[in-house]
Amino acid sequence: MSFTLSRQFAETEDRNDPLAPYRRLFPPAAERIYLAGNSLGLWSERAEQSLMAVLESWRHHGVDGWSHGPYPWFDLSERLGRLMVPLVGANPHEVIVTGSTTVNLHQLLATFYRPRGRRIKILTDSLAFPSDIYAIKSHITLHGLTVEEALIEVASPDGLTLDENAVIQAMTDDVALVILPSVLFVSGQRLDMATLTAAAHDRGILIGFDLAHSVGIMPHQLSAWGVDFAFWCTYKYLNGGPGSVGALYVADRHLPKTPGLAGWFSSDKAVQFDMAHTLVPSSDAGAFQIGTPHILSLAPLMGSLEMFREIPIETIRDKSLRLTRYLMDLVNHRLADRGFRIVTPLQDARRGGHVALAHPDAIRISKALKARQVIPDYRPPRIIRLAPSPLYTTYQDVWDTVNHLWEIMEYREYERYSPEREVVS
Ligand SMILES: *Cc1c(COP(=O)(O)O)cnc(C)c1O
Repeated sequence: MSFTLSRQFAETEDRNDPLAPYRRLFPPAAERIYLAGNSLGLWSERAEQSLMAVLESWRHHGVDGWSHGPYPWFDLSERLGRLMVPLVGANPHEVIVTGSTTVNLHQLLATFYRPRGRRIKILTDSLAFPSDIYAIKSHITLHGLTVEEALIEVASPDGLTLDENAVIQAMTDDVALVILPSVLFVSGQRLDMATLTAAAHDRGILIGFDLAHSVGIMPHQLSAWGVDFAFWCTYKYLNGGPGSVGALYVADRHLPKTPGLAGWFSSDKAVQFDMAHTLVPSSDAGAFQIGTPHILSLAPLMGSLEMFREIPIETIRDKSLRLTRYLMDLVNHRLADRGFRIVTPLQDARRGGHVALAHPDAIRISKALKARQVIPDYRPPRIIRLAPSPLYTTYQDVWDTVNHLWEIMEYREYERYSPEREVVS
């Protein structure tokens, strides 16, 4: 066996890892091998500290917490938006932390989807996350159109990945809007956002991206690429906690713009409390907020994003790519002939932060992993997703995971588990 496949190699990598000190801030990472950070990131001490600080300002200041305490609530969404800026490559006034992925998509559709003349279609892909598709369909219907006439879902050649050229070919002159993921949630394929954006703009089409599976794990250049808008959640790689508030980006050239879905938090903050019945929207992305921010679901993000302020996102991407490359090498060498197929693209530029393995017994293997305190994420019918998180996953975790898989297969341990699926997987 070559040295790189040995556990000593993993130990050496961990010793040389510039991010190793951060694992201590995530105590649950030491209790099990947690590879579901692309679904829900782990609890951290920093997230708890900022949450407790906000609870304390509620206790101590009551309503004055809007303007007092370490994290005054009134502009907390804006402050968090600025912390998010380096992660997505935007200008400070282009990002706001608000809503959820789905609500933000609704807001952006309400703002940017303007079917006119022949241009009535929304172009997306057949592998999109269901919530995004539901939101898109509801806006088509709200405009009095039918899904049959106004929705294009670009087909996948293999049911797992997309061909960017096929997406570009589908950008015909009846398309008003393109909405795509940055990274496909099942296979982990990363799309070439720069090329897709340029192609859409060449054809007079607006384009927006769902960054749920890329934010916090890789750099973006939304402004430089010319992306019109984007939206994402903060409870995956950003470790903001269950249901933590999402975020959105709107390109400077679309600001100020009246939000499709307005509320009093869409207002220019200087006049919000004038209580006028004519909205003066904020001149920045803050205009796309609706009502009172969910302060307790914003609070953990303040602590969590501190870590992302300390670490360049390029350093996170570098470790993520090394971890996933190592994982795929180990799978190829140690699990050959065990029925696994890596469905994530192998080239660095074409993959996100997780590795997806297809196996006919994926559900039973996932259960066997969980019983061994390795937490994967199963996607029906036969995909196991493994997401090493650069802030808290070690190279030894990766080596141990593949070793667990080897033992589970070698001793047919997965046969002890039923193939029934749980409600939340
Ligand atoms: C996680 C995820 C969502 C979740 O949306 P919520 O509104 O936060 O429930 C949406 N889209 C994609 C692609 C996701 O990965």
